[in-house]
Order: sequence, then C-alpha cells, then structure tokens
Amino acid sequence: MRILITGVAGFIGSHLADYLLKKGHRVVGMDNFLTGRKENIQHLKGNSKFKFIQHNVTQYIQVPGSLQAILHFASPASPIDYLRHPIPTLKVGALGTHNALGLAKKKRALFMLASTSEIYGDPLINPQHEGYWGNVNPIGPRGVYDEAKRFAEAITMAYHRSHKIPVRIVRIFNTYGPRMRREDGRAVPNFISQALMNKSITVYGKGNQTRSLCYISDLVEGLYKLLNSSLNEPVNIGNPHEITILSLAKIIKRLTGSSSKILFKPLPQDDPQVRRPDIRLARRKLHWNPKILLEEGLRETIRYFQTGRR
Ligand code: UDP
Repeated sequence: MRILITGVAGFIGSHLADYLLKKGHRVVGMDNFLTGRKENIQHLKGNSKFKFIQHNVTQYIQVPGSLQAILHFASPASPIDYLRHPIPTLKVGALGTHNALGLAKKKRALFMLASTSEIYGDPLINPQHEGYWGNVNPIGPRGVYDEAKRFAEAITMAYHRSHKIPVRIVRIFNTYGPRMRREDGRAVPNFISQALMNKSITVYGKGNQTRSLCYISDLVEGLYKLLNSSLNEPVNIGNPHEITILSLAKIIKRLTGSSSKILFKPLPQDDPQVRRPDIRLARRKLHWNPKILLEEGLRETIRYFQTGRR
C-alpha cells in the first residue's frame, strides 16, 4: 500500500512510519513541525519508499499519486502543548480531519483517525469501554483537544455513513517510549528527565490519580491490526495495567537510581482522576494484547533519554 501519515514527525507518527516501511509499504509523511521534530524522521531521508511533504493539514491537502490509506495522526497531544496552542489544536482536529477525509474520499482510500481516551474526559466509570459517552468540560482548558477529537470522530463517522468510506477510529490511551520530547510535559518524560538530573519530581495533586501506560511498540502493533481489520467503530488501544501517578514517580526514581525528591504541585484543572482502557473489543476482534511490562518499557525509555538512541 501507499499510505499517508499526517503528523509523521511526532512520537507516534514516526514509529508508525518505521513499522509500515518495515512491512513493505510505501509511506508519504506530512508534518508542519508544530510539535513534531525533524530528528524523528531524519533516519528516513534517502529511503526510496518514504516521501516527506511539509504541510499544515488545516489547509487544503494535496498529495500527488495514489493512496490506499490515510492515517490522520497530526495534533498536539500533550496537555501543555494544547494549552500552548489551543486554536491550532482545535483546527487540526476539526479542519485538518475534514481535509484528510476529503482526500480519502478523492483517493478512495481507507481513513484512520487517531482519537484518544480524552473522549471520555474525567470518566465516571472505570475502566472505560467504547460505549461510554464520556464526561467532558467543553470550555475547560482541555476542551480544545477533547472536543476537537470528539468532532473528529463525529465527522469521520459521517463520512463513513454518507460517502461509504472505510474508516478506523482508534482511541489511544496514554502511550510512552523513545522519541517523546524531554519538554513534552507529560508525566513519563517529565519524571524521567527530572530523575536523571536529580531534580525534584513534580507530582500534581496528591498523585492518587491513575493512568494506564502502553509502550509504543504495543500501540503500533494494535494500530496495524486495526488497519487490517474491518472495524469501522471506535476501538480502545491501551494497556489496562493501572497505577497511580505517585507510584509511577517512585518506579521511575528507583529505575534511574535517582536521588530526586518528590515535589507535590497543584493538580491541573479537569485532570482525569482515573483512566484505564477496557480492551475487550481489541482482544476479541483484533486478537491484540499489549505485551511489554511497565518496567521493561520504562527502562527502554530511560535509555533513550540517556543516550538519544531512538
Ligand atoms: N502529571 C504529574 N506531573 C507531571 C506531569 C503530569 O503529576 O510533571 C500528572 C498529570 O496531572 C496527570 C498524569 O500525570 O494526572 C498524566 O499526565 P500526562 O500529562 O502524562 O497525560 P494525561 O493522561 O493527563 O493526558
């Protein structure tokens, strides 16, 4: 297949490009480097199966030649990034998704949307299954991301129903691994870089909020299985192993052998109290199950932050 990935220079986009190229596909990558980084795709320069187009998908998208699939992964994805870029976040989720769907329609290509567990907001049930509609504050600081992704899901399903485009909607839960930016602002990169510098590890609130962390290689395998399935409805992909943020901080401190202290800071507004994917659908329909244990994935990620080896 010849596949377009929007957001190819991002953490997930670049791993996805590597995986698809390894599987023998041709990849057209697109990014405007708002939060993506050239370093993440540097190694693909000179690969005859990879072509890069610098473009902001909020503007009309043009890709010469045929495409069999469009994987729409462009968006700021870390809370501090979407707070820093609220309007581009709304635009890429809304206008960018519309443009990418228009391209899919024109090229008769399959369309995959990178959606998110933020669809569920600060969830009132735990774990979250795909049938749950969520608990989102539309005008809060996270609303720019959550509502853009909810709109993106709505327009993706509308294109599927009206134009008969095959679609895949993946609700990605917290994912981590090499190529996350040091200054990304999310818990894993923050804690690792703080621990490696023996600086205070900043835990927001009491640290009793929970997350469930999926290693990048597991996520990418799930994405590929979903791509090759015939599931047009949203599917959760994530690791159901749920831990508190305070225990995550302690694990990272131990794995890095750091002398950092834990510093409690105010909890950001609308920070979800719990998050854990119900992955029965992915298990049943995709025969997908995450394999990498938390400590194993964290060790790889720590190594990346130490050596830069991606
Ligand atoms: N968090 C924290 N300290 C940090 C960064 C994040 O305690 O330096 C918390 C944050 O408040 C949230 C959890 O860790 O409860 C996960 O945050 P992250 O930014 O990784 O992603 P989110 O799951 O909120 O989208």
